[in-house]
Amino acid sequence: MKVLHKFVLIFAAVALVACGDKKKDENSQEEEFTIGDTQSGNTSKTAESSDSSDENVVEITIEGNDQMRFNKDEIKVKAGQTVRITLKHVGSMAKEVMGHNWVLLTQGTEVSAFGQKAVRAKENDYIPEDSSDEIIAHTKMLGGGESDTIEFEAPEAGTYNFLCSFPGHYSVMKGKFIVEE
Ligand code: ZN
Repeated sequence: MKVLHKFVLIFAAVALVACGDKKKDENSQEEEFTIGDTQSGNTSKTAESSDSSDENVVEITIEGNDQMRFNKDEIKVKAGQTVRITLKHVGSMAKEVMGHNWVLLTQGTEVSAFGQKAVRAKENDYIPEDSSDEIIAHTKMLGGGESDTIEFEAPEAGTYNFLCSFPGHYSVMKGKFIVEE
């Protein structure tokens, strides 16, 4: 990619010189320059995605519906992985009546205790303001048709709880987030 980049630079310099020499050719030179530029853009993009291999990123999609259910009650990842999780609200009900989020709790934080506390945090989409030591990661609160993607580092190996913190949902909208060595 570096070689190509140099080539493009040289090409640009030549094109500039050429432009200065014969101004009437300006249009055709500009066209060539644009092509060269586009090519270098594509190449660097390809190089980027192959360089940073995505094997340490795990992508997970979880759905919440109008029946107040997640479609998964267990999620498994490996320690050290980057977790990219997308919550999709596949229903059509509004956030105010059937809101869903996905909240991953720190080890030892109980779903029911957290869920009861979250009820009082309506103004913050049911994420208690003083709960940063109880939450590893959470999505936005969603209404029907919406989705949200978050990314975080998998915590150390162990079993963690996740839930939807909308009032009353945690009794059924919950599951285990298992981090393996
Ligand atoms: Zn919910």
